[in-house]
Amino acid sequence: MKKWIWLLSIILVIELGLVGYFYVIKEFQTEPRQVASTKVISHIEKTVPKTNPVLIKKLPFKKWEDVEGPTSFPILMYHSLMKSDDGNTLKIDPEEFEQQMKWLHDNQYYTLTTKEAYQVLSKNKAPSKKMVWLTFDDGYLNNYTEAFRILKKYKLNGTINYITSKLGSSNYFSVEQMKEMKKSGVIDIQSHTVNHINLDEQSDQQIKEELIQSKKWLDETLNQSTQLLCYPAGRYDERVQLIAKEAGYDFAITTDPGLATSDENFYSLKRVRINPGLDYTAFGAVITN
Ligand SMILES: [Zn+2]
Repeated sequence: MKKWIWLLSIILVIELGLVGYFYVIKEFQTEPRQVASTKVISHIEKTVPKTNPVLIKKLPFKKWEDVEGPTSFPILMYHSLMKSDDGNTLKIDPEEFEQQMKWLHDNQYYTLTTKEAYQVLSKNKAPSKKMVWLTFDDGYLNNYTEAFRILKKYKLNGTINYITSKLGSSNYFSVEQMKEMKKSGVIDIQSHTVNHINLDEQSDQQIKEELIQSKKWLDETLNQSTQLLCYPAGRYDERVQLIAKEAGYDFAITTDPGLATSDENFYSLKRVRINPGLDYTAFGAVITN
């Protein structure tokens, strides 16, 4: 009887041992596969943002952070993007411009659209501590061939202030090109009046025509509510500011040097002129100082 119990106990122990052994073998066989697949997934998750860089995610206004006190940021002023040796300070070499955009990209700057710039100034909310607004005056064809191309490459935004009487001129971009830029969401188009004349020297009626007609054309052509006026040659006075407000513009930019701040008159916003000769590092110094 005792022998029989002993034999049963030994068989039971061997059986348990075998079950345990196969269980462990099974675990070892399946575990590496699971680990491998998890690694692949996490590898993909980590590499996707690198191959498809997103600068700073464009958040809805609601999610922007409140800013204590007045908000300020630089509005950069550009004109033509072309290589030149004639000493014209309004022309920037596209290669130099690309270095500047690369600096903004590398340093994770948020580039505002017109709508966003107005939100920052009027609501005292900001999408980032590091932000700039890129503006281009007049509407040169090279803004389409160079600025649009480079901004797309670095996933940045900008605003072009167009002189509506330039439509059809060979040096300026066309309606189709304008629509293409607007549709892309990379560049938005705002007003630089109809004829680019010194507004402070005109009669009330002439100022109204310049401001209302250009806005009406842009509103209808681009199916938008044009918010921004850029004063030709930076010329304005209190009368011009008042007419701009009455014509329906939300704000206006000048050529007066300095940062734009939310506690200032929205119809005399300052800008930072970008002169030729600023490489990657020099441009960074202009933005951070
Ligand atoms: Zn101009």
